[in-house]
Amino acid sequence: MFDPQHDFVDPLLDWHERNGRHDLPWREPDRTPFEVLLAEILLQRTTAEAVAGAYRPFAARYPTPETVAAAPTEEIEALVAPLGLVKRAAYLRRCAQQILARPSGDVPREYPELVGLHGVGEYTARSVLIHVTGLGIAAVDTNVRRLLSRFFDVTPDRDRIAVLADALAPPTRSADFQHAMLDFAAEVCTAGSPACSSCPLRGPCASAEE
Ligand code: SF4
Repeated sequence: MFDPQHDFVDPLLDWHERNGRHDLPWREPDRTPFEVLLAEILLQRTTAEAVAGAYRPFAARYPTPETVAAAPTEEIEALVAPLGLVKRAAYLRRCAQQILARPSGDVPREYPELVGLHGVGEYTARSVLIHVTGLGIAAVDTNVRRLLSRFFDVTPDRDRIAVLADALAPPTRSADFQHAMLDFAAEVCTAGSPACSSCPLRGPCASAEE
């Protein structure tokens, strides 16, 4: 009998332990909430490969909202330019200013406040909550939506997939699960040529190709 935990979550986490991108600098433990937010904004519509080289120098130069808010926009633009989306420089400054205007002066820990920050949408807010608070939810991007839609044979409707992803997210390992879905969708269940013949989820997958 099909069991989402046994047939999807557990093998996905096993695959990730052996094959996941454990070298990505923003996945290192002990990052501050601001460093988490910084990484998520840099990753918007940008590949992990592109951000991997830029993240460390960026986070070293702007480790706090104070340092971002104090920097000229042009200076931040020069650092984000290689990633494209130069307008993120202005987002980041306004976002840092909003954070500093909060009583705590720190990144919010609640969803409504996070999505109120400039440049922070649903995916970014959810990912920040997963990594900062360990909340047992998921963040769904195009790749995660494709993976879940294929495996569970459901229409790739944004809201429906989001509910499914939240239900699957292990309460104590939501960050691992998030990384596993992202890496697996990027490396195995790819958009153009899913590696069904060697996929560890092939047995229970509703869309496995011959
Ligand atoms: S069997 Fe194919 S479609 Fe199913 S999860 Fe694996 S790669 Fe994706």
